[in-house]
Amino acid sequence: MTGASGVGKGTLRELWLRDQNVFFSVSKTTRQARPGERPGLDYHFVTEEEFVAELAQNGFLEHAEFAGNRYGTPKGPIEAALASGQDVILEIEVLGAMQVRQQSSEAVLIFIMPPSLSELRRRLEGRATENQAQIERRLTRAREEILEAHNFDYVVMNDDLERAVLDMHAIQRAERSRSSRISREALKQIVES
Ligand code: 5GP
Repeated sequence: MTGASGVGKGTLRELWLRDQNVFFSVSKTTRQARPGERPGLDYHFVTEEEFVAELAQNGFLEHAEFAGNRYGTPKGPIEAALASGQDVILEIEVLGAMQVRQQSSEAVLIFIMPPSLSELRRRLEGRATENQAQIERRLTRAREEILEAHNFDYVVMNDDLERAVLDMHAIQRAERSRSSRISREALKQIVES
């Protein structure tokens, strides 16, 4: 899942994944924790040195800089979750999403679209977790990210939360039914049964 800062990805994800046994990847970031953020659940908050050390050990599936901070997806937990048959959800920005696409043809890229940039500004100013300069920086990134939406598999408009949740379920169902996800083994078992 990718979408501009303030588009409401977190709320959408929580409603979408409620009662689902999927693995949500907790990223590492050099950003300071916001009030209410839970270390280890929302993010692993690390120092620049820790981040660079993990990078040097090839520990990230993807990583990027966003509005002055570094973010990365730890590789190990994802490999373990996939090996155990779980679906894995990443919540990352555009550059990271493109890296994931290059590494995995199975990845499904969903862009969460705000109804407008002015609405995004309203939400960012409303939540007041960033100062004005940081908000402007995030809005500039949001503009750039929205123009990249055509590189994604799906675009979900988050103007109506309930409908957006339904769209996420619909995408998930359609993706599970893709013929490319059915193994030769499974087909053989059907014709031999
Ligand atoms: P925030 O600081 O608002 O939590 O996140 C800023 C941006 O970084 C958001 O678009 C968020 O989805 C993205 N992000 C969070 N974790 C990762 C990650 O591990 N990798 C990448 N590439 N982006 C991330």
